[in-house]
Amino acid sequence: MGVFDDLVGQGQAVAVLSRAAAAAREVVGGGRGAGMTHAWLFTGPPGSGREEAARAFAAALLCPDGGCGHCDQCHQVMIGSHPDLESVRPQGLSYGVKLTRELILRAAGAPTQGRWRVILFEDADRATESAQNAVLKAIEEPPPRTVWLLCSPAPDDMMITIRSRCRVITLTTPGTEAVAHVLATRDSVPAPMAQFAARAAQGHISRARSLALDEGARSRREAVLAIPRSLTGVGECITAAERLVKTAEEEAAAATAALNETETSELRKLYGEGSTGKGLNRGLVRGGAGALKELEDRQKSRATRIKRDSLDSALLELVSFYRDVLAMQFGAGVELANDDLRFDLDQVARGGTPEETLRRIEAIMVCRERLDANVNPQIAVEALMLSLRG
Ligand SMILES: [Zn+2]
Repeated sequence: MGVFDDLVGQGQAVAVLSRAAAAAREVVGGGRGAGMTHAWLFTGPPGSGREEAARAFAAALLCPDGGCGHCDQCHQVMIGSHPDLESVRPQGLSYGVKLTRELILRAAGAPTQGRWRVILFEDADRATESAQNAVLKAIEEPPPRTVWLLCSPAPDDMMITIRSRCRVITLTTPGTEAVAHVLATRDSVPAPMAQFAARAAQGHISRARSLALDEGARSRREAVLAIPRSLTGVGECITAAERLVKTAEEEAAAATAALNETETSELRKLYGEGSTGKGLNRGLVRGGAGALKELEDRQKSRATRIKRDSLDSALLELVSFYRDVLAMQFGAGVELANDDLRFDLDQVARGGTPEETLRRIEAIMVCRERLDANVNPQIAVEALMLSLRG
């Protein structure tokens, strides 16, 4: 099984990437390798698997067999420990020019295994303008064996000058059947659960996987989707807002705690803290304090981002609910994302008009924009709940 087999429903992208990987092998073997490109931009909606596709391509470049999926090289790429793969995932809301310059320096080194140096830049749209300018310079004159893989939701998220120098790979959201099939065959999820999770996640594979395998994720979803019917009075709206913000915070806290702990203890180990301190270099201790502070800042910024992301995905869950309501109001025979909640959907559908439903969806979108503009979450979500009530 090759590394591209995991890319569900992305036939076109896989065809292009496989051809490029073959050309890349020719280059390594001393040939011309027409069709190989040094800068790639992977785009597609959330859940379409941008990073997975970029990572599979990285494996195909670094594996002597073009991404066999089971050799050491492939394995190291998949777990992120390959010496010739630089993986960058911006932890904060933006990625600055200083970090980018350091990255470019590392990118310029010769490949240690004689093949390629691959830079996988996830969420490259979070790079600041000056950071993007630095990337632009790097991809304008790439070292002969360096390959940049940038990922962003839409091509427009990157500066046009970067875009025009990249080959763009567009990924599409896979259908329910394809996602359910993957869950059933690769994660051994029972068919009914696979169907439910695939539908509820609407093509978002990792979301579907967590719904299928994690009971906590399922109950958080249920709590969010119970909101529309609970908004009977102003008091209920305030309570619902509090609960929604708190749930997002808890989810984010759980996700960050584990990450932070490992990082901090690794850093402390690196600077010798926890040893007896005898003969410990004073400069090193001071450097350690600085590095620890820097790490804490980075972690704080990441926590903010995770919190924001989890609140945003709860809001998108609500959008999917009202989209289903709208479909029922129009009597459209489309597949409902929240088919398991037909009773609730039906109640809300009967209680209003399509115009009201559209207005509610609009209100959720406005709330997302406000959160993006740093409005206090409690205030923004309270206002939303009141307008969902009508
Ligand atoms: Zn391999």
